[in-house]
Amino acid sequence: MKVLSAIVPCYNEEENIVDFYHEFMKNEAFFREKDVALELFFIDDGSKDGTAAVVKKLAGGDERVHLVSFSRNFGKEAAIYAGLEKARGDYVVFLDADLQDPPSLLPEMYGYVEQGYDTVATRRVTRKGEPPLRSFARIFYRLMKKISRTEIMDGARDYRLMTRQVVDAILSMGEYNRFSKGIFGWVGFETKWLEFENIERKKGETKWSFWKLFLYSIDGITAFSTAPLAFAAFMGVLFCLAAFALIIFTIVRKAIFGDPTSGWPSLVCIISLISGVQLFCLGIVGQYLAKTYMEVKRRPIYLVKEEI
Ligand code: UDP
Ligand code: MG
Repeated sequence: MKVLSAIVPCYNEEENIVDFYHEFMKNEAFFREKDVALELFFIDDGSKDGTAAVVKKLAGGDERVHLVSFSRNFGKEAAIYAGLEKARGDYVVFLDADLQDPPSLLPEMYGYVEQGYDTVATRRVTRKGEPPLRSFARIFYRLMKKISRTEIMDGARDYRLMTRQVVDAILSMGEYNRFSKGIFGWVGFETKWLEFENIERKKGETKWSFWKLFLYSIDGITAFSTAPLAFAAFMGVLFCLAAFALIIFTIVRKAIFGDPTSGWPSLVCIISLISGVQLFCLGIVGQYLAKTYMEVKRRPIYLVKEEI
């Protein structure tokens, strides 16, 4: 008998857990027929509400339910990694607790794995019901397409079903700055994409503010592209060339008109422009340095407080 492990990252999701559990278990008959046992891992990412208590209650009545509680909020990426480490299934799937990843899609996804695909991934084709500011994500994906060789799909969700082989490949990437959408693309394998319309969150509210998403996008860029570093070097060359042209211009002007001292305002403009570009490029280098610093510290990705 094969095992399908579902990993559910939860951060303050007490109102959604029970609904999610029932919705997920609607697939029970389908998988029993396929001779696949189900197990559920709720990863409580340092929730401040009763999430852990609700899961414990569920686990009391159903031994297929597991709980991993973090010592604090480590973020969804850490929860995904913890889930992968804990799950023993032949197949693993990630789902959000808020039912934005419809469990009713699982039989179809499993069908493709049976056909021989290694991963079945999902993406939403619409973003209806989302705050308009989040449409900026589109810009991020368009940029990533240009500057990264790793394929990162626009609208891709973390809702993915994968085989043990893919799980082990992802686990072998022990980096601290985890950007799953990039990691999934990086490991490759045969991937089937399913599309669905955006579903609004059942209860509670999103944990991603615009600012948090913005910082997350910088994580993604530094983790999967070094193009910004090349850009910094390019700016250096560009400004050297411009400076060279200016030197020639000044010498020629002096030779013809004999007035080398005028031009104080333009000097100030040029100095402030160039120092701005310099600081910007230094900032880019600093971002990579900071990420490297965090990597070399080799801190654990998450810490477990309690496990059931
Ligand atoms: N989540 C988490 N840790 C966090 C933030 C979110 O485990 O620090 C979980 C959350 O409980 C949910 C999933 O990640 O199950 C997606 O979060 P959310 O629905 O807030 O994001 P959105 O769907 O708006 O992108
Ligand atoms: Mg959500």
